[in-house]
Amino acid sequence: MALIVQKFGGTSVGSIERIEQVAEKVKKHREAGDDLVVVLSAMSGETNRLIDLAKQITDQPVPRELDVIVSTGEQVTIALLTMALIKRGVPAVSYTGNQVRILTDSAHNKARILQIDDQKIRADLKEGRVVVVAGFQGVDEHGSITTLGRGGSDTTGVALAAALKADECQIYTDVDGVYTTDPRVVPQARRLEKITFEEMLEMASLGSKVLQIRSVEFAGKYNVPLRVLHSFKEGPGTLITIDEEESMEQPIISGIAFNRDEAKLTIRGVPDTPGVAFKILGPISASNIEVDMIVQNVSHDNTTDFTFTVHRNEYEKAHSVLENTAREIGAREVVGDTKIAKVSIVGVGMRSHAGVASRMFEALAKESINIQMISTSEIKVSVVIEEKYLELAVRALHTAFELDAPARQGE
Ligand code: ADP
Ligand code: ASP
Ligand code: MG
Repeated sequence: MALIVQKFGGTSVGSIERIEQVAEKVKKHREAGDDLVVVLSAMSGETNRLIDLAKQITDQPVPRELDVIVSTGEQVTIALLTMALIKRGVPAVSYTGNQVRILTDSAHNKARILQIDDQKIRADLKEGRVVVVAGFQGVDEHGSITTLGRGGSDTTGVALAAALKADECQIYTDVDGVYTTDPRVVPQARRLEKITFEEMLEMASLGSKVLQIRSVEFAGKYNVPLRVLHSFKEGPGTLITIDEEESMEQPIISGIAFNRDEAKLTIRGVPDTPGVAFKILGPISASNIEVDMIVQNVSHDNTTDFTFTVHRNEYEKAHSVLENTAREIGAREVVGDTKIAKVSIVGVGMRSHAGVASRMFEALAKESINIQMISTSEIKVSVVIEEKYLELAVRALHTAFELDAPARQGE
């Protein structure tokens, strides 16, 4: 008998009908003999609706109170699923994060899990109950409700699986696995049988929101076997594995990630003296703004142009910090661009293959897409391009790296 944690996302519990369907599925698994802990998201759209309600009161809701309201979405679904299970004769009980005692730090809206008390859950499992836990939420040392950031139910699932030493954590969603890229953007995207934690972490960090970044970090750290599956279609899904060997037959690139969440800022005509980068980025980091990509160009007149990207939500703030810096250090001007996108190719195969970046640049050049910034690591290459070319770029790269699914017969 195995202990499985099953997490169902927002669309999978988006209506009463779907919740009844999930209950049927859980019942079947339970009857097969496994011990089950089920983690749920709020109904799809509900978290956005709750945030919107708060924003109707104030532009900047107090983070603690925002957590009190957004955590209610998951409280609704866990009760509904538990009722649906009991109606089917399956003993079940629901718990909020506080009731389990998923202890987090006090960073409201983006809290980190510190500790999980597994006693209650273990006792219920022993009594033969299915335990249904609210995803996305926890409680801090002061007893305040916290939430784990958008998409945080994935992390609840993985953290519970780690705490309970579950045999597998299954993430059920509206796609039947992790694809070479978002199948909503590239219909030819292919499901991956396996992907390494390292690659999945890069994919998630670079914009593939199929799994929350922290859930992948957690799974890697505690070596939790993690699988992404479709909620209502049978299939093997995608296994996230620690073992690079296992995915050796995969091509050099495992996937393509992209995001539209960044904005670019350039400070022009900066006197080129030692310490320039610190003078520019020091005040940015002192304002708690995270910087992603950085490029510095040296021009002929002993000045330099310095460009970096930040999250789009922080663009205005970063712009005004940079204006101040420009005045102080005698730079010529500050310009910005919010209509950019970042496209990244990811794969552990890059380590052993040369020429991957140039193949990427060639594919973009063929489509006349201008590259504005580049950054690389051992297993990824990212470029910033004009946002309007994003989909074209992703499709071109998908084809160039031979990731397209073979056309089905008759197509
Ligand atoms: P849930 O509500 O179940 O947590 P999400 O919307 O958070 O579901 O994640 C599933 C979605 O992630 C898919 O519908 C898909 O559009 C998107 N997605 C982005 N990149 C990928 C990828 N590489 N593979 C699969 N899905 C992806
Ligand atoms: N309901 C939360 C959100 O929409 C958490 C989750 O679905 O994972 O972000
Ligand atoms: Mg999600």
